[in-house]
Amino acid sequence: MELTDRQIKIVEIVKERGPITGEQIGEILNLTRATLRPDLAILTMSGILEARPRVGYYYNGQSGNTLVARAIGKIRVKDVKSLPVVVREATTVYDAIVTLFTEDVGTLIIVDNEGGLIGVVSRKDLLKIAIGGNDAQKIPISMVMTRMPNIVTVTPEDTIYQAAKRLIVHEIDTLPVVRTFALPNGHERQEVVGRITKTTITKLLVELGEGHN
Ligand code: ADP
Repeated sequence: MELTDRQIKIVEIVKERGPITGEQIGEILNLTRATLRPDLAILTMSGILEARPRVGYYYNGQSGNTLVARAIGKIRVKDVKSLPVVVREATTVYDAIVTLFTEDVGTLIIVDNEGGLIGVVSRKDLLKIAIGGNDAQKIPISMVMTRMPNIVTVTPEDTIYQAAKRLIVHEIDTLPVVRTFALPNGHERQEVVGRITKTTITKLLVELGEGHN
């Protein structure tokens, strides 16, 4: 991650004088605390500086690799997730394929009427059924989807490292982001609140590379 000139100056000041408050850094640089806020956020997010309430900022002498590890271990699924593209289980294979094109995604998440997760369907699942001589207009998506409880998910509080690891370990492209709700009958429901895809992770890497995160 490349730091801006101002961020390098901030790190130098903190190295020399830390722990130091944002206001004091501002005084030295002749800038307001508000102007510095985005820089301080980037420096703490990436683990270069640590911030302690009522103490201030201090330098965290870490190697480059550890910094990357800290950055992806700090960013949470809820910070970067995108909107889920969901369909109902009665949707036909034909309509599901159309949705892949209209929504420009590779995986659809299948939910019940309350928004609860019941399955996932990938583009190869759909290709398989489409080349098998079946009538795509007649087959419901529920016949071809991978079902619960075999769906790999993440929660909004999971780190982006945990999400990336799951994508790799399970060799899949998309993770539904779910919140668990307990129903009055004692059962649990997984409400779909987002999705994390390989694209989400790649975009984040690009942003980190540009020093915007
Ligand atoms: P593709 O099949 O197009 O290569 P994936 O690699 O994402 O796409 O999917 C591989 C298989 O895993 C498919 O059968 C799909 O239904 C299933 N799958 C996709 N996402 C998940 C998930 N989050 N949890 C469990 N199974 C999944």
